[in-house]
Amino acid sequence: SLNQNIADIDGNINVSFEFFPPSSEQMEQTLWNSIHRLKTLQPKFVSVTYGANSGERDRTHSIIKDIKEQTGLVAAPHLTCIDATRDELRSIARDYWNNGIRDIVALRGDLPAQGVKPDMYAADLVELLRSEADFDISVAAYPEVHPEAKSAQADLINLKRKVDAGACRAITQFFFDVESYLRFRDRCVAAGIDVEIVPGILPVSNMKQAKRFANANNVKIPGWLEKQYEGLDDDLLSRQMVGASNAIDMVRVLSREGVKDFHFYTLNRAELTYAICHTLGVRAKA
Ligand code: FAD
Repeated sequence: SLNQNIADIDGNINVSFEFFPPSSEQMEQTLWNSIHRLKTLQPKFVSVTYGANSGERDRTHSIIKDIKEQTGLVAAPHLTCIDATRDELRSIARDYWNNGIRDIVALRGDLPAQGVKPDMYAADLVELLRSEADFDISVAAYPEVHPEAKSAQADLINLKRKVDAGACRAITQFFFDVESYLRFRDRCVAAGIDVEIVPGILPVSNMKQAKRFANANNVKIPGWLEKQYEGLDDDLLSRQMVGASNAIDMVRVLSREGVKDFHFYTLNRAELTYAICHTLGVRAKA
C-alpha cells in the first residue's frame, strides 16, 4: 500500500558523506558545523575531495586527520593520479597508511587540457595503492558514461579493470534519472563487476549550479525536475524543500530496488542531507 511505501526504508540503509576542502575561513566554519551535525547519523565513512592540479592534497590530508581525531569517523581522502608521479603517489600512500588512514577514493582526475594523453588511469592508481598496502579503495563509476569514454562498453570495461585491480566499491557520478542507474547496475552485474555500485546522491537547492555540473559531466537533467525549480530564484527555502523531496524519492525507489548504500554529495552543507537521512529513518544517536 502507499503507506507501506512510505514506511518501508526505516533507516535500513548505510550512508556516507562527501565534503571538499573549504576556500575561506567562513566556509571552513560551515564545513565543521556540517561534519559535527552529520556525524550523529553514524555514516559508514566520510570522504574529502582532492583538487587535481591545485596543490590541495595537504589540505585534504589535514581535514581528514582532523575528522579522524575530532569525530572518530572513518575518513577517506580522495586521491588523483593525473598530477603526480608514481614515486609521489607511493609516498603519499605510505604517508596515509602510517597515519592510520585505511580508506582511499582513487581517481584519475580531470585532464589539464583536452586531448592530453594521461600517463596513468584510475585503474593504475588502484593497482599502485594495492601494491603499497591493504587499503579499502573506492573508485568512480558513471551510469550515464564518462564524457571521455569511447563508448559505454569501454567505460564499463574500465570499471571492471578498476575492480579487478582491487577496488572494494564504486561510487557513482550524481544522476537524476533513476532508470539510467538501474540499467547501469544491471550491466555491471552482467560484466562480472561484483562490488556495490553506490549511488552518488546530489541534493539540489541550486538548479543553475547543478546544471553547470551536469553539462560538464554528461549527466541528464530531466525536464520535469528542472521545471520544479522554475520561479524559485529568490526562494532558497522552497528550493531546498524541492531538493530534499526529490532526493528522498530517489533513495526510496533505489532502496526498493535493493540498493543499501548511498553516498551524499553534501557540498559541505548539512541541512538537506540531514533532513533527507532523517526522513528515511537514518537517525541521530546522542
Ligand atoms: P578513469 O577510471 O581512469 O577513467 C577516465 C576516462 O578514461 C574514462 O572515460 C575511461 O573510460 C577512460 N579510460 C580508462 N582507461 C583507459 C585507457 N587505458 N585508455 C583509454 N581510455 C581509458 N576529481 C578530482 O579532481 N578530485 C576528486 O576528489 C574527485 N572525486 C570524485 C568522486 C567521485 C565519486 C566521482 C564520480 C568523480 C570524482 N572526481 C574527482 C572526478 C574524476 O576525477 C573525473 O571524472 C575524471 O575525469 C575521471 O576520473 P576516473 O577516476 O573515473 O578515471
